[in-house]
Amino acid sequence: MIRRPLIVGNWKMNGSRSSSIELVGDVANNFSTGGHVECVVCPPDVFLADVAAVLVGSDVGLGAQNVSQYEKGAYTGDVSASMLVEFTCAYVLVGHSERRACFGETSSQVAEKFVAAQGKGLTPILCVGETLAERKAERAFEVIAEQLDAVVEVAGLNALSSAVVAYEPVWAIGTGEVASPAQAQEMLAFIRGRLGEKADATRLLYGGSVSAENAAQLFEQQDIDGALVGGASLQAEQFMAICQIAET
Ligand code: PEP
Repeated sequence: MIRRPLIVGNWKMNGSRSSSIELVGDVANNFSTGGHVECVVCPPDVFLADVAAVLVGSDVGLGAQNVSQYEKGAYTGDVSASMLVEFTCAYVLVGHSERRACFGETSSQVAEKFVAAQGKGLTPILCVGETLAERKAERAFEVIAEQLDAVVEVAGLNALSSAVVAYEPVWAIGTGEVASPAQAQEMLAFIRGRLGEKADATRLLYGGSVSAENAAQLFEQQDIDGALVGGASLQAEQFMAICQIAET
């Protein structure tokens, strides 16, 4: 089974309107992989329209960083899946650890967001990951299983295996402390083992301090099909270098 590598840039809450246009322009102009690697950027929602306009005719795809579990109505500050589709998003992150930790998103809310996204044709990128304390307590596998099971309970196994799953150990996000290739591979193999009969086709990403320096060793691992990249996606050159490594 050959899975198409996927590199996703999560810009988080960074940049300005003009810097976002400049960054995505640099990415779009320099990304051309002959269709092997898929590259996606996830800007802040308020810049989606500007970024989408730059991406017209390019090979780079668009995603969002979060989505409401609700379709419409009195949910001040939320953005629905159909709104994201209107702005040409194909992907959306759900359950990023910063949403779980800073905004108290529970696994059952994450599952509802997952369903809302898929219901409108978006591909959810389900983020799962354990904290350092959980890893030290040897609970990492249990935590990841719980986060996956919460989605399976609501959406079903087939729905999960039609999405993308990103393993992002919380202790590796934005810290410069990348998981070892063996640690990442071990967890992603565990995740793939829980995805049922379509598991071989499901793309699994690693995220957490991925850079052009450490990407090659990560991508050599059998169950790592790409990366969710935070900090390094804010520099077009670094991000392009990571895409290039996935290509080779
Ligand atoms: C992320 O935001 O999902 C992420 C992995 O960030 P960083 O690459 O900066 O660790």
